[in-house]
Amino acid sequence: MKLEIDQQRLLAELETLASFSDAEPPAVTRIVFTATDLKARAWVISRCEEAGLTVRQDAIGNIFARWSGADPAAPAVGTGSHIDAIPNAGKYDGVVGVLGGLEAIRALKRSDFRPRNSLELLVFATEEPTRFGIGCLGSRLLSGTLSADAAGHLADRDGKSLDEVRKKAGLNGNLQGVKLPKGYYKAFLELHIEQGPLLERAQTSLGIVTRIAAPASLRISIEGAGGHAGGVLMPDRKDALCAAAELILAVENAARSSGAPDTVATVGVCEVFPGAVNSIPSRVHLTLDIRDTDQARRNDVMQEIERASQDLAARRQVSIQDELLNADAPADCAAEVRAALSDSCRQRGFSFLEMVSRAYHDSLFISRIAPTGMLFIPCRNGYSHRPDEYAAPGDMARGVLVLAEALARLSA
Ligand SMILES: [Zn+2]
Repeated sequence: MKLEIDQQRLLAELETLASFSDAEPPAVTRIVFTATDLKARAWVISRCEEAGLTVRQDAIGNIFARWSGADPAAPAVGTGSHIDAIPNAGKYDGVVGVLGGLEAIRALKRSDFRPRNSLELLVFATEEPTRFGIGCLGSRLLSGTLSADAAGHLADRDGKSLDEVRKKAGLNGNLQGVKLPKGYYKAFLELHIEQGPLLERAQTSLGIVTRIAAPASLRISIEGAGGHAGGVLMPDRKDALCAAAELILAVENAARSSGAPDTVATVGVCEVFPGAVNSIPSRVHLTLDIRDTDQARRNDVMQEIERASQDLAARRQVSIQDELLNADAPADCAAEVRAALSDSCRQRGFSFLEMVSRAYHDSLFISRIAPTGMLFIPCRNGYSHRPDEYAAPGDMARGVLVLAEALARLSA
């Protein structure tokens, strides 16, 4: 099998996809189901059709593009990632796995390889939590990790439900039908930028993921008492923002004191009401993200944060409510998928690093229903989710080549 990756075409397509954006270049903003995102999705579908793939969409907007194998009834071998992007992001997160996956399939088609199992590119819908507050909605539904009913009622910041938004985007099917039947995939593989600095530091262009860390997120509301910034004296105050400040530090402390480098916790959102210079903050909303490769250790950190918040509420006489948005288990990548990747690397003489994925991806959820693996390529300085995110063309092409060979091994 002679495989050639069309690096120029991949780069050109990456630039085109980046042009579907609601931010000034080089920044990319592509929130799911906005007019811009719908244009980008239509463009990706047209690229898949041009490659001779059979395209379908499910009710939440996951896009499946299939090259039928010699045994079309056999479970498919899947690859893919996402194209939605958080505000002010870069052009590589997710996109490398979608356009790279497409190019891997095209390269296999150009070669003399013919798969036994069908090969399928999967573009996951609404991976980023930006719009609906919870990430990986497409893969959560595909894997049955989230019920159709719970998903349909999720709402965006404008109060529009997911059902309303997806139907407006022409996705009228029933969310119950999104869950994949058992044994749908023989294996699944996601190519992605690392979003961390380890590959670059190791001067290695490929990372084979062994385990995906367990994410959890919480929304915390702190209710104090507002008032005039001049009129209310300090002993009488129940300042919600001062309570939030203590809580944020308690979160940092809980993660630091776990003693493990894999434990991380972040307060990424802090909304202050009423947000006026001469008004005491009466209410604060925080959003909290906690991750670890060890689920028990992550849960201990969450309990520690809970203890700190109860103590704080009593001491400062504010009320603190938390709402658990998600608390997922970690995942082990499948041995056979890792072997398909490492065999390709060894045969080609490419060095690789075995590593943990600290970011989570749709693969975390697909791993619940299929043997799953991930292949990482470096991104400059480990930067991701920012406009200067960058992956070198040679690294992308190498990743796509290894991906294509692994897909061939798994579908032969
Ligand atoms: Zn991503």
